[in-house]
Amino acid sequence: MHDRRAVASLSHERAPALVSWVVHPCRPLLALALSLAACGGSREQSAPPLEADALPPHLYASTRAAGIVSHTRQGADFGDAMRYHFIDVGQGDATLLEFPCGAVLIDTGGEQNASFDSTKALLGYLDAFFDRRPDLGRTLDLVVITHPHIDHMRSVIDVLERYKVRAVIDDGKTEAESEHDPGPEQQARMHEWLAAHPEVAHQDVKVGDIGPVGLTEGLIDPIGACEASRVDPRLTLLWGAVTEELDSYGHDPNNHSLVLRVDYGKASALFTGDLEIIGLSRLFTKYKDHPELFDVDIYQVGHHGSKNATIHYQMEAMSPKLAVISMGPYDRVHDWTARKYGHPNLIALEHLVHPKTGVTGWREEPIEAWVGIKGAWKDERKEVFERRTISKAIYATGWEGTVVVTAAASGELAVDTER
Ligand SMILES: [Zn+2]
Repeated sequence: MHDRRAVASLSHERAPALVSWVVHPCRPLLALALSLAACGGSREQSAPPLEADALPPHLYASTRAAGIVSHTRQGADFGDAMRYHFIDVGQGDATLLEFPCGAVLIDTGGEQNASFDSTKALLGYLDAFFDRRPDLGRTLDLVVITHPHIDHMRSVIDVLERYKVRAVIDDGKTEAESEHDPGPEQQARMHEWLAAHPEVAHQDVKVGDIGPVGLTEGLIDPIGACEASRVDPRLTLLWGAVTEELDSYGHDPNNHSLVLRVDYGKASALFTGDLEIIGLSRLFTKYKDHPELFDVDIYQVGHHGSKNATIHYQMEAMSPKLAVISMGPYDRVHDWTARKYGHPNLIALEHLVHPKTGVTGWREEPIEAWVGIKGAWKDERKEVFERRTISKAIYATGWEGTVVVTAAASGELAVDTER
């Protein structure tokens, strides 16, 4: 069932107060050597710039051929396009997919402490979005909950109560892994809410429900073409709750995350939730005959840029043009923050800037950011972060606030950041 709504062309509207950046093709020769160059403390010396002619010319040519556009500072006007809104909810995930003919929300999470209220941030953003898109009638065609951790579903009831939601999919799991995690209880509350509101369709997805090229049936792919766009976006679910060999696989909710691929014309994106190494390994084994399912332009970096959720063969299969990390800022020090988890981690960033398998696009301007060198820490003495300069097209909500990626049906991309 596809709604047909007449809307103004998406490409002519811009979210206010966002800084525009490009996924830049024109400066890789110098910037390649500077990516992730250390620049503080004993790292005061930046890596020396690589001579421009030290790189083979095909690197430049292939980057340009990948369809990445130059930034004009006039805003991207691509004709038929969709937008990925990686909403700044602090440490957590909430990504709004804005199509000309509908909207989907992946996760409703975020950070909650004395310094930050992610529910307020998320609802404020969605209210402003629906004000800008009155044609959508405050309707989310689908809400996807990747897994029942509170940083992914804190605000789900608020979202269900406040907007018209047509359908919800989740992994169905409500058993708690530890008494400290309120996520499964929140998922159980969501199931109760859904049972009391049969007008909202609901589907729990297990890996066993998913065929050899992913799942697009049922509630998963609700948006079609409409008057405003002839492009029919395609949402494909690649992973869900695992029900077999759990003795070896484990019960960590991260590894039961829903994994979603999004296609809009020639532009594509992959969301792996918080899937960790064992989950990624099984995921790639399941689709070993269809590696093309992972070939995408946009990668939402797994598990907030954790060191255990981005791996080499995944990068090889994806060859993304740009990556976005959803995590909190370095300067908020509370429990359950990016600072305490050491996100994003250097290991993930090393994968993202790898010269052969890393992100192929370039930022308009490099950014200096704090990068975790170790994993999570509970004790200040163990904190290890370093300042690094990132030149590749890697963006993060903890660095730049909300990140909006415009993806044209032609495959062209542009990026706007809140700051
Ligand atoms: Zn998470």
